[in-house]
Amino acid sequence: MSDCIFCRIVAGNLPCWKVWEDALVLAFLDINPVAEGHTLVIPKAHARDITGMTREDLAAVTAALARIAPVVTDLVGAEGFNLLNNCGCVAGQVVEHVHFHIIPRKEADGRGYRWITSTYPEGRGDQLAARIAGALS
Ligand code: 5GP
Ligand code: ZN
Repeated sequence: MSDCIFCRIVAGNLPCWKVWEDALVLAFLDINPVAEGHTLVIPKAHARDITGMTREDLAAVTAALARIAPVVTDLVGAEGFNLLNNCGCVAGQVVEHVHFHIIPRKEADGRGYRWITSTYPEGRGDQLAARIAGALS
């Protein structure tokens, strides 16, 4: 897609700090890193989100994430990493070409990890799991 910035990067029409590629996947540094080494891993084929990816691209991107994340983490002296995929505008997706963030984490980075969690009222977990399982069957 010519109006997609990540397709333009894949095509070589926009520069990036490339860290790795194969036939299906490109990985490059995020231009506005959350942490040093913050890397984006994308399928070369345009898809808006994971629901539009082929199984082959999903497998290739997953394999790339598992390969790249520990290397980047070690290289920047981090102790762990977050893998993040924002899917949909409401979830914070800005670039509409599916991408996975590798964000190296250090104990002392002060960024924390905070979800606002809750619990299910009595019976709601049973009901919800059954409904989702039914929709998937
Ligand atoms: P999202 O919020 O869609 O999950 O994340 C999009 C990410 O893409 C952001 O972290 C942003 O910094 C990064 N980004 C946006 N435009 C460019 C670009 O032209 N080059 C690179 N390398 N990263 C970009
Ligand atoms: Zn694209």
